[in-house]
Amino acid sequence: MKRLAGKKALITGAARGIGFAFAAAYVKEGAEVAIADIDLDRARESAARIGPEAVAIHMDVAQQASIESAVNEAVSKLGQIDILINNAAIFTAAPIADIRREDFQKVFDINVAGTLFTMQAVARHMVERKIRGRIINMASQAGRRGEPLVAVYCASKAAVISLTQSAALNLIGHGINVNAIAPGVVDGEHWNGVDAFFADLEHKAPGQKKKEVGEGVPYGRMGTASDLTGMAIFLASDEAEYILAQTYNVDGGQWMS
Ligand code: NAD
Repeated sequence: MKRLAGKKALITGAARGIGFAFAAAYVKEGAEVAIADIDLDRARESAARIGPEAVAIHMDVAQQASIESAVNEAVSKLGQIDILINNAAIFTAAPIADIRREDFQKVFDINVAGTLFTMQAVARHMVERKIRGRIINMASQAGRRGEPLVAVYCASKAAVISLTQSAALNLIGHGINVNAIAPGVVDGEHWNGVDAFFADLEHKAPGQKKKEVGEGVPYGRMGTASDLTGMAIFLASDEAEYILAQTYNVDGGQWMS
């Protein structure tokens, strides 16, 4: 028996990376998915790679009107939304002295307000239809503690952990479970950019930063998107019925809590 048979999932930022891996894994478990992303062309390509169980939707989680129209489009294409994964996010890094207000605002608009107001729009739909839904927010080990060059992104992910707790306590009364996943360092296009940033800042050879962070993980390597799919399936499955307000570390042993 497939663990998500018949379920309909909206996954933000799923055109590539971890969100794409979640979409593909959910379809393998019997779900239909909406791949919602600001990059519609890439979302379409990614949906086509998965097959007819995946549809592409344009969504900018920083824009309220876009959140509402994307949720409506997902409902009209899939019939309803049983599972939301708030995965879209951006990364920024700078020493405290160089942080620009506009970068702070952009990160908080996408990573924090995007998570909150997408949760709100989907929760309204779930409550209206009496759907005992699941919401999974993507946090990060960066939300567990600060980092010298990553203050804004770390603060945004700490906010995601906090929002997960409050939303879970509020929405369980409607039978909606809210949890989060905190990955460690996950190789992919996102980390190619981080590696390039540190190569520039710390005068490292390309690939050197990735090698160092991988060696620093107790498991012995960076994570991959497929290391995270098991947790995303579990949290959306019937087996996780009694679990709410939690943030699960899936990070090769980097953070213990
Ligand atoms: P990624 O950068 O590869 O993918 C992010 C996706 O979000 C892209 O497809 C992008 O187009 C989309 N996106 C960006 N802004 C958007 C917006 N305003 N509206 C809608 N979509 C938008 O990132 P990833 O590595 O796959 O990370 C996925 C999630 O996991 C993020 O929440 C990230 O913070 C978190 N995370 C990643 C790592 C890691 O090491 N990769 C570690 C911890 C947490």
